[in-house]
Amino acid sequence: MKKEQSISVRELYIGIGSNLHNPRKQVDAAIKKLLEQDEFNDLKVSRFYESVPMGPQDQGYYVNCVVRLKSGATPEDILLLLKGIESMMGRVKSPVKWSERIIDLDIILYGDLVYHSETLTIPHKDVADRAFVLQPLIDIDPEIFIPQKGYARDLIKSCLYKNIKKIEK
Ligand code: ADP
Ligand code: MG
Repeated sequence: MKKEQSISVRELYIGIGSNLHNPRKQVDAAIKKLLEQDEFNDLKVSRFYESVPMGPQDQGYYVNCVVRLKSGATPEDILLLLKGIESMMGRVKSPVKWSERIIDLDIILYGDLVYHSETLTIPHKDVADRAFVLQPLIDIDPEIFIPQKGYARDLIKSCLYKNIKKIEK
């Protein structure tokens, strides 16, 4: 018998954002990296959106999207993998919250998993506040339900950060 039972395959939703060095190009590069991972399969990409920054306002607009893929990896392994891609793409850690970044990869949802550790919270703790995450989720699955929060199509009606604009991919 196997010592540790592997997690079942679930649908993983990853939020992607960038506002530095040709953000659209950075988002494309991140998607390409995600496609290369053996742990990730059947990748689908939402529409792309432009959004105003949430933190300091002396920074450029963001390009955002969400990808859905299938994975059986553990949540912490997925976080490590995403952090690896962020560093590979040149992200440097800033002490300023919500400051500009070349790439941001966040775990938004992992099937119906509810998970909390010192380093990771799933579903992403701020998902219900952000139209630039909710709208791409709805693009991929109009009926998407976020555990402990509700349907994305309901949450988007009253979310805090609403200012998004659809852009061409
Ligand atoms: P933010 O995305 O909030 O601007 P960072 O990308 O720097 O900030 O992430 C800060 C930390 O948030 C990460 O090092 C990670 O440990 C933690 N974190 C908690 N939940 C998540 C999640 N669902 N997805 C990604 N990171 C998360
Ligand atoms: Mg992040």
